[in-house]
Amino acid sequence: MTVLSSQNRELASLKADKQNKDAKSSYFNLPSLDVSDAFPQATPASVFPPCSHQLSKKRKLLGNKYKNAYQAYPGTRALMPTSDYYHFDDLLTPEEQALRMKVREFMEKEIAPIMAKYWEKAEFPFHVVPKLVALGIAGGTIKGYGCPGLSITANAIVTAEVARVDASCSTFILVHSSLGMLTIWFLYLLGLSTIAIGGSEAQKCKYLPSMAQLKTIGCWGLTEPGYGSDASSLETIATKVAGGWILDGQKRWIGNSTFADVLIIFARNTTTNQINAFIVKKDAPGLQVTKIENKIGLRIVQNGDILLKKVFVPDEDKLPGINSFKDTNKVR
Ligand SMILES: Cc1cc2nc3c(=O)[nH]c(=O)nc-3n(C[C@H](O)[C@H](O)[C@H](O)COP(=O)(O)OP(=O)(O)OC[C@H]3O[C@@H](n4cnc5c(N)ncnc54)[C@H](O)[C@@H]3O)c2cc1C
Repeated sequence: MTVLSSQNRELASLKADKQNKDAKSSYFNLPSLDVSDAFPQATPASVFPPCSHQLSKKRKLLGNKYKNAYQAYPGTRALMPTSDYYHFDDLLTPEEQALRMKVREFMEKEIAPIMAKYWEKAEFPFHVVPKLVALGIAGGTIKGYGCPGLSITANAIVTAEVARVDASCSTFILVHSSLGMLTIWFLYLLGLSTIAIGGSEAQKCKYLPSMAQLKTIGCWGLTEPGYGSDASSLETIATKVAGGWILDGQKRWIGNSTFADVLIIFARNTTTNQINAFIVKKDAPGLQVTKIENKIGLRIVQNGDILLKKVFVPDEDKLPGINSFKDTNKVR
C-alpha cells in the first residue's frame, strides 16, 4: 500500500480537480442541441419546420434510394417525413393526398408565421377566416347545403393537418364545424335507413350554407360551471311559452362563443325534464358572453362564460332532433 505524504496528497487532489474540470468543460463545450430536431413544436414560428411537401414526388423519383434520401440530399429537410412516420400518406386516395397537401401548405404559409404573435396576445386572427373559407373544409363530412361532403378519412386528415401547426386553429374549426354544424345536420342510423334529424330541413337550409362559408360562425354550449364531465346533469332550463321558449342558466368554457353568430345551447326542458337544444342568436336580449381570460393553453381559442337571463328563442329555432342527452352522442 502506498502512503502519500500530506504534500503529495494535496498534489493528487489538485490533479484530480483539474481532471474533473477538464471533463466538465469538454462536456459543456459541446455544441448546443438543435431543439427544432427534437421538438419542432417548441420552436419559434419563424423556424417552424415545413413538412415534406415534395415527399411523395421525391420518393417516386428516388425509388429504392428513398431510404437514403436524407444522406443523398443532406440538409434537405423537405425530404424528411416529419409527421408521416408510418407512411400513412400511401394509404390515401389521390384526392385525399391532394387535400392534405392543400391544407398543409395553407397552415405552414398562413398560420405558422403568425401563431406565436396571436398566442402571446391571446387573440383570434380573424383576418385568416376568409382564407380558411377557400380551403373548403368547414362542414367537413356534411353532404349538401353547400358543405364539402368529405369522407371521414379526409375530414380526419384535414383536422390533423390544421392541428399539426396550431391546436387553437383546429379547435376553432372543430367547434364550428364538427359540433355546431353537425348538431344542426347530424345523421341518425335507424335500422337500414339514414335520416337527418338534428335540425329541421328549414334550419339546415337557413344556417348550413352560410356556416360552410364561415359567414355565420357557430359555437356549441353544453358545459356549465357546475357540470363538465357530468354534463347530463346540466341545470340550464328551457320553459315553453307562447311561440317559443325561455332559456335561463349559464354555460362555461364555450369555444368561439365570444364572437359566434349562432350559439347552440343545450337546456333542460322543464316539462319533460329531458335535454333539448336551441339556436340562440348572438344579439338575443338577455344573452351575455364574457371572455375567459388568462388561459395557459389554447390561448388563441376564445372561450366564454355565457349567461342566459330569460332569453327568448322562437319555436323555429328549437332543434327538433335533440330530445334527450343521448342525442348529443349522435353528433359525429
Ligand atoms: C379549451 C376548452 C374548450 C372548450 N370548449 C367547449 C365547448 O366548445 N363547448 C362545451 O360545451 N364545453 C367546452 N369545454 C368544456 C369541456 O367540455 C369541459 O372542460 C370538460 O367536459 C371537463 O369539465 P370540467 O372542466 O367541468 O372539469 P370536471 O368535470 O370538474 O373535471 C375535473 C377533473 O376531475 C376528473 N373527474 C371528473 N369526474 C370524475 C369522476 N367521476 N371520476 C374520476 N375523475 C373525475 C376529470 O377527469 C378532470 O381531470 C371546453 C374546455 C376547454 C378547456
